[in-house]
Amino acid sequence: MDRAVSGAAVRVAGLVKRFGGREALGGVDLEVARGEAFGLVGANGAGKTTLLKCMLDFCAFDAGSIEIFGASSADASSRARLAYVPERFLPPHYLRGREFLELTVGLGGGVYREPAARALLAELSLEADALERPVRELSKGMTQKLGLAAGFLLERDLVVLDEPMSGLDPASRVAVKGVLARLHRDGRSVLFTSHVLADVEELCTTIAVLERGRVRFRGAPAALCERYGEANLERAFLRCIDER
Ligand code: ATP
Repeated sequence: MDRAVSGAAVRVAGLVKRFGGREALGGVDLEVARGEAFGLVGANGAGKTTLLKCMLDFCAFDAGSIEIFGASSADASSRARLAYVPERFLPPHYLRGREFLELTVGLGGGVYREPAARALLAELSLEADALERPVRELSKGMTQKLGLAAGFLLERDLVVLDEPMSGLDPASRVAVKGVLARLHRDGRSVLFTSHVLADVEELCTTIAVLERGRVRFRGAPAALCERYGEANLERAFLRCIDER
């Protein structure tokens, strides 16, 4: 069978990334299956964002390989099937919400459709008047939801999100989680980082625990709890990253 059809959504093998003499990723092997909701967790500085940046070819790496739907991450075509929303998201402040969505969807090769945008904004509990307002007037959380809307409107097979729920109010977190659960139900692959283990447990079929640039665990959240005999994922996570 064609590997691009049958393979993993993301395959990372032996990934090493150094910043100067400092090793940020020390030989990461990781696979995200198609249709999987995958949570990448780890303490501050563990290497989560660096891993995503390497995947997206935002930075070069020192060894290893990354494939997205079978295509090398060095090849721009590997990104044709993914949407990415970064952690710190600053859209051009002079654009109105609609202009930003139109621009993003257009740059991604899609066609902006107002009804789809309005439906998505409602699903994300972002008021429709955000479409008319200049982005500089939107609050931090509203801006973040606009960025997520742009990513979701592209309707890509793989959605990569760096801390998508951070800084959102409780209703917005529930709303974003609802969209992520829907994407997963629809068979899309979802890869996101988070420090909120309850969110990860709720949404993800698989998690990877990254600690100092190495994968300490990959499997179902329940399997991590089982490994340490803990009922609570947070406790199991802490034991995992503390283990020498
Ligand atoms: P957080 O949860 O705080 O967002 P993270 O797991 O995403 O953390 P990274 O941002 O990937 O962590 O950082 C991993 C390591 O790489 C850290 O030691 C960090 O200092 C280092 N690092 C990241 N970016 C750079 C850079 N541009 N130059 C030098 N070191 C960097």
